[in-house]
Amino acid sequence: MAKKDPKELSVEEKLKNLYQLQSTLSAIDEKRALRGELPLEVRDLEDEIAGLNTRIEKIKYEIDDFQHAIAQKKGDIEEAKASLERYNKQLDMVANNREYDTLTKEIEYQTLEVELCKKKIDEAQTRIRERQDDLARNEEMLEDRYKAIEEKRAELEEIMQETRDEEEDLKEKAGELETKIETGLLRSFKRIRKGARNGLGIVYVQRDACGGCFNKIPPQRQLDIKMHKKIIVCEYCGRILIDPELAGVKIEAAEEKPKKKRVTRKKKEEGED
Ligand SMILES: [Zn+2]
Repeated sequence: MAKKDPKELSVEEKLKNLYQLQSTLSAIDEKRALRGELPLEVRDLEDEIAGLNTRIEKIKYEIDDFQHAIAQKKGDIEEAKASLERYNKQLDMVANNREYDTLTKEIEYQTLEVELCKKKIDEAQTRIRERQDDLARNEEMLEDRYKAIEEKRAELEEIMQETRDEEEDLKEKAGELETKIETGLLRSFKRIRKGARNGLGIVYVQRDACGGCFNKIPPQRQLDIKMHKKIIVCEYCGRILIDPELAGVKIEAAEEKPKKKRVTRKKKEEGED
């Protein structure tokens, strides 16, 4: 089939082709955006997991330290108790007051030592309990993040597999459509699209406004757009404007539906479709 020279196409056809190209390119943008965020989310989760693992290790280390301290103090208590036993036996055989005084002082000292060690052990046990709570909280969080990352990775993998093919098809379609658009028009369309934040180079009229920047379009200009006799751009953002009907877009808003009658009140959703 001989292809028509794009220059010979009517404005109507040119606009239609452009709008189709726009839809195709937007679909590609969407796929890229969809995939574009996932790797970032996965990386964020990886960082978070690494952070949690470090914290957990630190807490475990602290618990270990406290347990060592407790063991040490228990050893000290054993020693003090052995001394006490010895001193108490010696007390039975004291020869003079001086010896007696020395021994009672020692006994007093070792008794205090035992008390002090017990207090330290209690304190360390409290700290351990606190750390164990902290540990449990962090481990729970870690497990949660592991689950999340697994899901994200699977999602990403799926999208990668899915979008790769779809994107290829869309690119092919876009390439095909580009051959139906004259070079000059295609070039300006691409320029507009590049400059636009949402990647839209051609937009349809929406509620009497430009569908790209939402500035109002004067009635005469709207009429010109509906005529499809020449290519009209938005005077604010420079995007090419197309009549929604030509774009094949169904306007949902009630105000746009009945073209003949003016509707002042919104009354949709009644017995349509
Ligand atoms: Zn605009």
